[in-house]
Amino acid sequence: MRLFTTIAALGCYLNSQKSAAPKKEIGLVPTMGALHAGHLSLIQRARQENAIVVVSIFVNPLQFGPKEDFQDYPRNLEQDRLLCEQAGVDAIFAPSEQEMFGKSAVDVANSVAEILALKLIHPSSLTQVVPPVAMTSVLCGKSRPGHFQGVAAIVTKLLSLVQPTRAYFGQKDAQQVAIIRKLVADFNWPVEIVACSIVREASGLAMSSRNQYLTQEQKQQASVLYRALQQALKTFSSGDRTAAAILAAVKAEVASTAVELEYAELVDPNTLAPLFVVETAGLLAVAARIGSTRLIDNIILRNRRPIVAIDGPAGAGKSTVTRKVAQALGLCYLDTGAMYRAVTWLAMTTNTPISDECAIAELVNSSYLEYNLDPTSGLMLKINGEDVTEAIRSLEVTSRVSEMAAHPVVRKFLVEQQRRCGIKGSIVAEGRDIGTNVFPDAELKIFLTASVKERSRRRLLELKNSGAADISLEQLEQDIEERDEKDSTREVAPLRKAADAVEIQTDGLSIAEVIDRIVGLYKERILTTPQS
Ligand code: C5P
Repeated sequence: MRLFTTIAALGCYLNSQKSAAPKKEIGLVPTMGALHAGHLSLIQRARQENAIVVVSIFVNPLQFGPKEDFQDYPRNLEQDRLLCEQAGVDAIFAPSEQEMFGKSAVDVANSVAEILALKLIHPSSLTQVVPPVAMTSVLCGKSRPGHFQGVAAIVTKLLSLVQPTRAYFGQKDAQQVAIIRKLVADFNWPVEIVACSIVREASGLAMSSRNQYLTQEQKQQASVLYRALQQALKTFSSGDRTAAAILAAVKAEVASTAVELEYAELVDPNTLAPLFVVETAGLLAVAARIGSTRLIDNIILRNRRPIVAIDGPAGAGKSTVTRKVAQALGLCYLDTGAMYRAVTWLAMTTNTPISDECAIAELVNSSYLEYNLDPTSGLMLKINGEDVTEAIRSLEVTSRVSEMAAHPVVRKFLVEQQRRCGIKGSIVAEGRDIGTNVFPDAELKIFLTASVKERSRRRLLELKNSGAADISLEQLEQDIEERDEKDSTREVAPLRKAADAVEIQTDGLSIAEVIDRIVGLYKERILTTPQS
């Protein structure tokens, strides 16, 4: 593991890594040090998803208010270094203030600091990044003016220094996550912001570097925040989704304890606008003081009905099975393969070369898809106003669709639409990456498969029944094998069985048997467990 304190050395390291392997993905975990299990979970996730993991350690003076704990904030680089080393980090970037802000800024800061008797960098000496006031002035922003602007400045700087593929943040700082997502979206920075779940102590207390300020007794008392969130979740799960009821549950739990609630609010997780009722998702956020220590915690309340994900290779019977399962369970049916087929059809009819990724990006991003997901009222797919429900099933489209589906720009465009279809749940979606990528939190995941021989036999029968072209079984076998190979080896979201999927090998099974099995699993797993 390397440790760099200068921007020049970090740049040199990143350049050497990129020139050795230009496609290497970089994960950045920005921290203020004093690493704990929460940080380590971010590092672990970054380690799983990237070739190179960079952890930055910098106590950012810009995000502390004049009366806050900048001076006392725990700093322990040696221990952080050991923890990073054990976690398999490739490089730590731990710059000084002078390195980050330049000598002149530090000098200005110090002269201002002398006047104000503070040791902070003064924001007036630096270029500022100003996120929307509606996001920075609510929740923690009310009592911490300037905090999120300071966060935005440092994150901007770290993202531009490291240019990571992904940057990892803890969901504990939910407001920070929302503001950074907005920052990255508004500036179109090519980085994926990954929010990782809150890591808690056995008592439920959310891990935080500031927990070091608490005595054992205070730690125990502070766990009431978690219990309050759980009480609110109970209210929500029992069907009352109003802010009034949810917030009352939090306040009742915290009342007459040693913890003094600063706020409890229910907001939209993305815009942070207040919610009166949770339609799809709500962020319930709390801040509290115990002694002189300020703690925050939150929970996302999701009002989503179940999702069933059905993945598997071509010709495993997914379409028929998924449609009938949707009908049997009264759910909507999302055929994601049809979407990939529709854009393939569009490229072919407009003579856009599928190998020209930039032309495809232009074509797809200016196209408009419309679909009907209700299997009982008839499925329909239109692209740019044209009904292509039938046309996309042609052998020509089938033979080119996997090449199209391998383009990351195509997947990004379609996966966003697929996720929008599932926002309220109540859907059975079929494809190749539903359980692994589109809806990784689907309640039931099925991996439907069959031998190549069996799949080709079924396809041939299907084609004959629909009076389609003359094609041999051998040709179909070859086509299916090729498609499997392309779908399973592409770089983005390849065809793979999700770790928590139930595999159904359908060689000896009738369609009715497969449907019964899936409907049975749904009833067993979903209808018998209470839904929020
Ligand atoms: O399922 P269907 O045969 O209609 O899918 C057509 C093609 O679309 C697949 O072979 C695959 O290349 C692509 N696809 C995908 N991801 C999905 C669904 C389909 O890559 N979720």
